[in-house]
Amino acid sequence: MRLVILKEAAVGETRVALQPDAVKKLIDKGLEVSVEAGAGVASGISDQTYAEAGATLTADRAALLGSAEILPVINAPSAEDQRKIKPGCVVIGFLRPLDAPAQLLPAVESGVTLFAVELVPRITRAQAMDALSSMATIAGYKAVILAADTLPRLFPMLMTAAGTVAPAKVFVIGAGVAGLQAIATARRLGAVVEAYDVRAAAGEQVRSLGAKFLDVDLGGLDAEDKGGYAKELSEEALDRGRDLIAKTAKTADVIITTAAIPGRRSPLLIRRDAVENMRAGTVLVDLAAAGGGNCELTKPGETQQINGVTLFAPLNLTTAVPGHASQLYSRNIINFLALIVKDGALQLNFEDEILSGSCVAREGKVVNPRVASALEATK
Ligand code: NAD
Repeated sequence: MRLVILKEAAVGETRVALQPDAVKKLIDKGLEVSVEAGAGVASGISDQTYAEAGATLTADRAALLGSAEILPVINAPSAEDQRKIKPGCVVIGFLRPLDAPAQLLPAVESGVTLFAVELVPRITRAQAMDALSSMATIAGYKAVILAADTLPRLFPMLMTAAGTVAPAKVFVIGAGVAGLQAIATARRLGAVVEAYDVRAAAGEQVRSLGAKFLDVDLGGLDAEDKGGYAKELSEEALDRGRDLIAKTAKTADVIITTAAIPGRRSPLLIRRDAVENMRAGTVLVDLAAAGGGNCELTKPGETQQINGVTLFAPLNLTTAVPGHASQLYSRNIINFLALIVKDGALQLNFEDEILSGSCVAREGKVVNPRVASALEATK
């Protein structure tokens, strides 16, 4: 059975779906692995390293697409590439099944089996396959590094012969996976950190990292759903958060926003007037930009200067750390493959909630109800 690793074709993509150590493990399990020439170069892996792990290398992308039986990817292949994949091939990756379902139709129509890592249920057994958490960890870290590099001040408190330097004040909005990593990174660099989240449960995690948790009185409302995610709030409840954010942001040096509600536009939490009242030199990194952004002034993918405030709105910061982003992703994929490859052959047990939850399409049909309704909404 042949597994193929492509050179990712999306503009700006630097990651690769599987690293050589994973290739070696798969070959030991009886798979053949073929790699497109140059697949790992942008993340620091040479073709030779893949060859040493036992893979065959070729520049013939069409032949790779046509012969793959398992195709782990970072991003969904282009429509043209999808049409070259043979029926029954299993594709696994960040397929954007809820926000761009129509882009998967060529593969669906050709009978390709599609699994979206975004839909892997966040249950304990699936933690080692949780690519969303892996990428959020990388993005949270990198957002702080980006801010520290841009801030016209230092992060740690320093006592020097020339006087004392006060520590930077970092404000993190949204204390999920990315936010908690941002807090930990900012703390390691010596900043004083405050954080806000609508989920009261986030408070304990924030405090355990040495940061201050800012509470908002939501009038007894439980803002967390059964899955541990934030619920969508009323405008009135959102306004309470916005007021607290505006007040805290006035004196912050760095603001990192990560607030998200799965399947919805990112909540707007930083109003225009809050940005106008920030001090010159403040750095704002809107990590929710891909979902529309948490700041009213965010332009996804652009960096703006607004009265001395730098507003970053990166669409995918993980591509700026391709080595470790690929390493974590590769391990997530290997753990997923362990569920579907037995004795060197594909065994898809759709009784398993991880497989049934993450499967987007098979045998020519969209099988995930959420994806089917997202697709219906695009018509
Ligand atoms: P996410 O990316 O969906 O959202 C990021 C954060 O934004 C969340 O903490 C959310 O509460 C917060 N948020 C949403 N609306 C907000 C608002 N109006 N104001 C302020 N904050 C707002 O979340 P995530 O990082 O994917 O994690 C969500 C939860 O799932 C967390 O509790 C996390 O610990 C948990 N989780 C569990 C597992 C598991 O395997 N069991 C794995 C990963 C994450």
